[in-house]
Amino acid sequence: MHCPNCLHPSTSVQDTRSLMQGSLIKRRRKCTQCRQKFITIERAQKIAMVVIKNDNIRESFNTEKITKSLYMVMRKRPFNTLYIDRLITEIIKSIENRSSNEISVHTIALITLKHLRKTDMTAYIRYAASHMPFESLEEFVKFCQSPSNISE
Ligand SMILES: [Zn+2]
Repeated sequence: MHCPNCLHPSTSVQDTRSLMQGSLIKRRRKCTQCRQKFITIERAQKIAMVVIKNDNIRESFNTEKITKSLYMVMRKRPFNTLYIDRLITEIIKSIENRSSNEISVHTIALITLKHLRKTDMTAYIRYAASHMPFESLEEFVKFCQSPSNISE
């Protein structure tokens, strides 16, 4: 694992934590060169899942992207990382447990929104604003106000 700060190839593991019955492993690392501290998250993932992007390009499903976007929309919200990690695991499970091995980015966004709506309206609105193709402010407001707008 390269250091995200100086790209030095050698980092030391300070602490390893297994969360959610081992489905998630968090390691606290420190760069041996610049001393930058960072964490890495390992998560078991189904291999065959393919994501169809808006331009029809296919790429393999990347749980890191979902993790990043969730941490972004949950920023400064009153939830601890354990709670957020559990939410992310739930979302990933709903994505992986579908019968098809292909999923569109739009469906991923809808699944994520369904979970966020039950959890935190602020995070929900943040996520909707950056992941849904709204044409106008009115459309956005309508989406946020309607109670049953999410169907896959
Ligand atoms: Zn470094």
